[in-house]
Amino acid sequence: MDAAHQARPWYAASVPERPPQPPLEGEARADVGIVGAGFTGLSAALELAQAGLRVVVLEAERVGAGASGRNGGQVLPGYGCGEARLLALAGPAQARLLFDWSREGIALIHARRRAHAIACDWCDGHATVALKPRQVTELLDWQRLLQDRFDYPVEWWPQERLRASLASPRYLGGAFDPGAGHLHPLKYALGLADAAQAAGARLHEGSRVLRLQRGPRPVLHTARGRLRCDHVVLAGNALGRGLAPELDARIMPVGSFVGATAPLGPERAAALVGNGMAVADCNWALDYFRLSADHRLLFGGRASYSNLPSPNLRAVMRRRMWRVFPQLRGVDFEYLWGGYIDISRNRAPDWGRLDPSVYYAQGFSGHGVAASNLAGKVLAEAILGQAGRLDAYARLPHRRFPGGRLLRTPLLAAAMAWYKLRDALW
Ligand SMILES: Cc1cc2nc3c(=O)[nH]c(=O)nc-3n(C[C@H](O)[C@H](O)[C@H](O)COP(=O)(O)OP(=O)(O)OC[C@H]3O[C@@H](n4cnc5c(N)ncnc54)[C@H](O)[C@@H]3O)c2cc1C
Repeated sequence: MDAAHQARPWYAASVPERPPQPPLEGEARADVGIVGAGFTGLSAALELAQAGLRVVVLEAERVGAGASGRNGGQVLPGYGCGEARLLALAGPAQARLLFDWSREGIALIHARRRAHAIACDWCDGHATVALKPRQVTELLDWQRLLQDRFDYPVEWWPQERLRASLASPRYLGGAFDPGAGHLHPLKYALGLADAAQAAGARLHEGSRVLRLQRGPRPVLHTARGRLRCDHVVLAGNALGRGLAPELDARIMPVGSFVGATAPLGPERAAALVGNGMAVADCNWALDYFRLSADHRLLFGGRASYSNLPSPNLRAVMRRRMWRVFPQLRGVDFEYLWGGYIDISRNRAPDWGRLDPSVYYAQGFSGHGVAASNLAGKVLAEAILGQAGRLDAYARLPHRRFPGGRLLRTPLLAAAMAWYKLRDALW
């Protein structure tokens, strides 16, 4: 893991310090043991605790230490595979259901913000923007597909309309989704943890699960404790490797990076993104950005498909930000951090059951803020006896990455280099 992955995100620096929850010590018992306190694990914990089950969450580090406390904060419907591939994978009727459920992921965030008074800087609106004529055509096709097959309207903004809200010379137009938006992901994750604990869930930080002992009564082993459960939820995402090898083989951890400028001041920030929306471009190695509540620009991108340290990361990220906003030339990042995205081979969600007592959700493929909230709910429903939705996700086909543990990353890096070349040339 390189320095940027270890660097403290601005999100962590922008919330008050909280005393850590005590680690698991000795023997314990739970109806449901959950590995990982990101959105997936916390969402499941909240639902299950509200239903009256004894829930224990074991988190290796702190709440939100993984992708949930490091991401771009963009809250989107759908899944990493996109809607066209979802149709191909699931067929029209199931794809429509799965897409509608993804919208429920956003509704769930709103419902929880309200029910548990989670102040997480929500802002409405998201634009997917085109850099090239080919991408304008692709976005217009996508807009039609969303309308015709999913009954989900997004607005097409030609260049002049887009420029009225986004002061960048780089884009030819964009698809604006008023139903999407952005939030401060760590504030939301901490609020979710508080809500789950208030509902009765127990949370242990500093409690890495070292081994999952499978069987009708699975046991989670940490360095200093053992948790015997009726059900286990594996919600460790890209960082949760080593507990179930069959799951590890189906996802690839891919590095992605986010920088935060110092506060720019309300006027300068509003001059960049006048309507406060989040933005992502259509490239494979995409740029994504938004403003924070304290008027910083949060700028993400530059996926890294190798596990090698990223030379010149700061300079590369800065150059990318200046290319989008030449008016920021000379502005640097005050914070720069990275995180791991859990991509599945087809970028579709990989949620299901390993056996009657072990449940999992992974494969969010960089599109998981809303989807992981939903995943926790769908896993909880299944544990509570309503497995229909989880079964629908489990029917999506998934394959292992080729190459075994050592070869997987270099093979993917080679494949991704092709897509980056395509971004650059066409
Ligand atoms: C840089 C970055 C930018 C992103 N931007 C966006 C975005 O803008 N929009 C979007 O929709 N999605 C985005 N994503 C994806 C999104 O953040 C994730 O899909 C989502 O947060 C996944 O949540 P999770 O709970 O499944 O995993 P995580 O948040 O990674 O949580 C897993 C937790 O499990 C813990 N853990 C792992 N192993 C163990 C173990 N053995 N024992 C105990 N605990 C363990 C980890 O410490 C971690 O806290 C981004 C991801 C990254 C990394």
